[in-house]
Amino acid sequence: MISLHEPEFHGNEWTYVKECIDTAWVSSVGKYVDQFETSLAALTGARFAVAVVNGTAAQHVGLLLARVMPGDEVIVPALSFVATANAVSHCGAVPHFVDSCMDTLGMDPVALQEHLEATTERSSGQLRNVRTGRRIAAIVPMHTFGHPVDMPELMDVAARFGLPIVEDAAESLGSTLHGRHTGTFGLLGAMSFNGNKIITTGGGGAILTDDPVLASHAKHLTTTAKKPHRWEFFHDEIAFNYRLPNLNAALGCAQLERLPDLLRRKRLLAERYREAFSLASGIRFVGEPDGACSNYWLNAIRLERPDINARDALLAASNDAGFQCRPAWTLLHRLPMYSSCPRAELPVSEALEASLINVPSSARLAGPDA
Ligand SMILES: *Cc1c(COP(=O)(O)O)cnc(C)c1O
Repeated sequence: MISLHEPEFHGNEWTYVKECIDTAWVSSVGKYVDQFETSLAALTGARFAVAVVNGTAAQHVGLLLARVMPGDEVIVPALSFVATANAVSHCGAVPHFVDSCMDTLGMDPVALQEHLEATTERSSGQLRNVRTGRRIAAIVPMHTFGHPVDMPELMDVAARFGLPIVEDAAESLGSTLHGRHTGTFGLLGAMSFNGNKIITTGGGGAILTDDPVLASHAKHLTTTAKKPHRWEFFHDEIAFNYRLPNLNAALGCAQLERLPDLLRRKRLLAERYREAFSLASGIRFVGEPDGACSNYWLNAIRLERPDINARDALLAASNDAGFQCRPAWTLLHRLPMYSSCPRAELPVSEALEASLINVPSSARLAGPDA
């Protein structure tokens, strides 16, 4: 079976992890946590990166720092992994699903603007959903399969409605739009280093921000809000144990060193898929949007005519033939716990759900000589 996506450990992973064990610095503090954060900030151009235990935790804390409160609504794309909505729920808030674009696979700024104009009103300085009466607190764009969303347009809409943006950049380490790294456009961004992502720390995530106050609060909230002291245990707010262990950060440091080579080979693989599928009728290869440089985390094709039965027939045939292909996620509003959440019309998300197929995307598939 050729799997959908495999991690690669061809660099200093073993050396760094062994050093953690040899020195007994395996847990919640250690030099690799600091090094991983510094390297991530340098790579993304964010002023600060705070390493955390996984991408969902990063998104959760990002939303809290953007002042999402219990009872609020948060705008998220219906086409996303469940964690995007779960992080909203963990704040006691309610996801409000909006539609995506065909070309970016991410949140559609034009549809969002029209939806907000039609369904919200501003009262005493707050944006409210007129149907539910709830405050709308933030917008969460997600960079699907590594392809950057149209952030400049979304930031315009967000500014017009006075909403902060918390980017779900879980899938897009290494992806840029007009030269700027995904996850650094919004007030805060969240990344994931789960085993299936472009690089992995086993499990892990990071919060990105340019704001020094938010960055230090992110660190504080994710490390039990302990006031630094030589012996006293004093904690000044209800916080989380969302720390990334040094052991995992060591893996991450080694993985980051290999990222440029990974990205190069993933682009080569994407190019080969593009050529191969240019000959297939009725199928389009999903390429990077204009102005974007995608990490091509997961390569995707889509059926020109959305048809869930045709999609499933293709999935069955490819999996039978030993190629692990996958559909996109079931749209979030179809999941039982999110079925009664507010939502916009979702015609493009529905078409994408019935037409997207992810194909094997491990960098090693670019070939032994790549
Ligand atoms: C992977 C992923 C997450 C969550 O990351 P974890 O590290 O698995 O918690 C969030 N959003 C999206 C879109 C993802 O793909």
